[in-house]
Amino acid sequence: MQSGKRLTLLVLTAVFVIEISAKGQNGQPKIDWPHYQDMAVDLMQKYLRINTSNPPGNEIEAARWFKSIFDQNDIQNEIFEYKPSRANIIARLKGNGSKRPIILLSHMDVVTADAGAWEVDPFSAEIRKGSIYARGALDMKGEGLLHLMTMLILKQQNVSLSRDVIFIATADEEVKDEGSLWMIANKSALFKDAEYLITEGGDNLLEGDAVRYVGVDVAEKAPFWLQLTATGQPGHGSRPISDSAPNRLVRAMTRIVSWQTPIKLLPAVEKFFKDVAPLQQEPWRSKFANINQSLKDPGFLKELTDSREYNFLLRNTISLTMLSGSKQTNVIPTTATCNIDVRLLPGEKTEDFLVGLKAVVDDPTIKIENVNTFKPPNSSSVDTELFTVIAQVTKANHPEAIVTTKMLSGYTESQLYRQLGIIAYGWVPFYTTEEENETVHGNNERITVKNIREGTKEFFEVVNQISR
Ligand SMILES: [Zn+2]
Repeated sequence: MQSGKRLTLLVLTAVFVIEISAKGQNGQPKIDWPHYQDMAVDLMQKYLRINTSNPPGNEIEAARWFKSIFDQNDIQNEIFEYKPSRANIIARLKGNGSKRPIILLSHMDVVTADAGAWEVDPFSAEIRKGSIYARGALDMKGEGLLHLMTMLILKQQNVSLSRDVIFIATADEEVKDEGSLWMIANKSALFKDAEYLITEGGDNLLEGDAVRYVGVDVAEKAPFWLQLTATGQPGHGSRPISDSAPNRLVRAMTRIVSWQTPIKLLPAVEKFFKDVAPLQQEPWRSKFANINQSLKDPGFLKELTDSREYNFLLRNTISLTMLSGSKQTNVIPTTATCNIDVRLLPGEKTEDFLVGLKAVVDDPTIKIENVNTFKPPNSSSVDTELFTVIAQVTKANHPEAIVTTKMLSGYTESQLYRQLGIIAYGWVPFYTTEEENETVHGNNERITVKNIREGTKEFFEVVNQISR
């Protein structure tokens, strides 16, 4: 009996010790974070040193780099080289299938860099004063690196998953979205059953050491570029023609630029104003908190829409960007054209917008043509488990932060994947200053080492929690 008891006790102790070493508190894997954070910084530099400037892109090199890491870690993966040197890569960790997959989507290409205007070689990934300098540091190899680290940590820690975690890195986001369009057209069977997708687009604000807010991008506006052409009788500049092509075009443009397009308050935008109300001074604080009512106050509406930061959130916008007429001062031309950059809110239809625009132009002889490939704008619900998890993890790490939604004035690939019925969010746990944000597509793009180290842990926490 005695020896039997002792044996049981020994076995129990052994089991207990194994439990302790494999799991930390709450059954969470116990993870050697400094080890993974060192690895993240090292891999970040290596990834940034692969020149994937687009054009020409040459993303195959980055895809092969990812492949070698996935292969070493025994993570199932495949490269799709859809044309010479242009490639996407997909990797997958299998879950038990009780929940639908989550996709971690990033693009491997970066915009070109004007090396002469940088403090360091844009592909050196040199660390200066606590930041890694390189093209793509923020847009968006940094986030791609967090996706890679999450895959590696989940695998190496043997985390049991309720859903598949799918890593997708694509080519050509910065130019034509060829990579994602190709994946969706040819390989969507591999991921179209996903419930969630996380990619770029989040907008977080750091002031000093405090995270002011974390904006999860749940909707983006869509570019609808138009060219207007007026035609008329040509002639000599010395003998004016009152209804010449340039005169008619300018009259129409005057009406367009003074057009106040209708105000529309989308649910995600309403949430944004309410969430950030506490950051405002009075009277805006109360106005933001009750934005639906406040927009009926013409004085407040004017003040709000005079701000570039808020105006685009509330309406379809129009920027006049190109104008052309005669090449000579003394020649009245037959045609005059201008291009306008129209951005439509999610849910808007081009036909409806054109009806309104034509009424404003009020000149049926002016031809209006769409000159880009229009992709209908869309949005994802805020009322999801993923949004809740992002908010929880953010709050745990940054108690001072407000977690809100942000609609982007620009475009991201979320729009393509939402069409498959996937809830797509733009989010990344990087906290950047206004100054750092301005380096995106600009000079001296950089990310702090602190962001890479802490982002590795925070991003993992979100994917780990949503996949339990
Ligand atoms: Zn990007």
